[in-house]
Amino acid sequence: MSRTKLVAGNWKMHGSLAVNLSLLTAVGAGVADVRGQTAVCVPYPYLAQARSLLAGSPVAWGAQDVSEHVQGAYTGEVSGAMLSDFGCRYVIVGHSERRSCYGDTDAVVAAKFAAALKAGLTPILCVGETLAEREANVTAQVVTRQLEAVLRGSGVGSLARAVIAYEPVWAIGTGKTASPAQAQAVHALIRARIARDDDALAGGVRILYGGSVKGSNAKELFGQPDIDGGLIGGASLVAEDFLAICAAT
Ligand code: PEP
Repeated sequence: MSRTKLVAGNWKMHGSLAVNLSLLTAVGAGVADVRGQTAVCVPYPYLAQARSLLAGSPVAWGAQDVSEHVQGAYTGEVSGAMLSDFGCRYVIVGHSERRSCYGDTDAVVAAKFAAALKAGLTPILCVGETLAEREANVTAQVVTRQLEAVLRGSGVGSLARAVIAYEPVWAIGTGKTASPAQAQAVHALIRARIARDDDALAGGVRILYGGSVKGSNAKELFGQPDIDGGLIGGASLVAEDFLAICAAT
């Protein structure tokens, strides 16, 4: 099945009104010839800026996290309905930095995934193993466990309205990229696990790779049969670098 590639930027906690203005203007102008889809996931305070600067542009935009709760006394949290009300399309859930720094367990990530879907957002579900887990040869078990929490919570059919990102933790922000073969192996494993529950649906699910993707390695990574684009951290902050990755779709 042919799947449209997607390159999504994860700005993390970076940016300012002035810096974003030039970045978004350059990205918006530079994607005209890009074959795949593009998106940026920005810090909450800059959603309004992304919405206004990207209006009418093919670049979609969204947030980096969402509350698992619908509403209530959850100081500092932002609900799916708020993001959706605002016009966001995407939201990242389960990024490894949320899992490791903020205690987002598999169950919390599954609840956030469900909350995002319920609000009509497209969750980008991140899964991936740490270096210790890879060295202990438990990559498959870890990634399967993370995925199965979502399958249990929302059902396999929910993946038709979601995107998965395989992000080996040891490759995020480290400059170390998984080799195309290493990434492809895990992507194939994720797709096979989905196929076990729904073969037809598995062929249509987009699985992005994330972890030190650059213009110089994007083409080879995106050329793998089960890699459908990338989730991009550091390189999404520099228009030229991000556009070079987008061009590799
Ligand atoms: C990320 O944070 O999702 C990521 C992939 O970061 P980087 O591209 O900087 O490794």
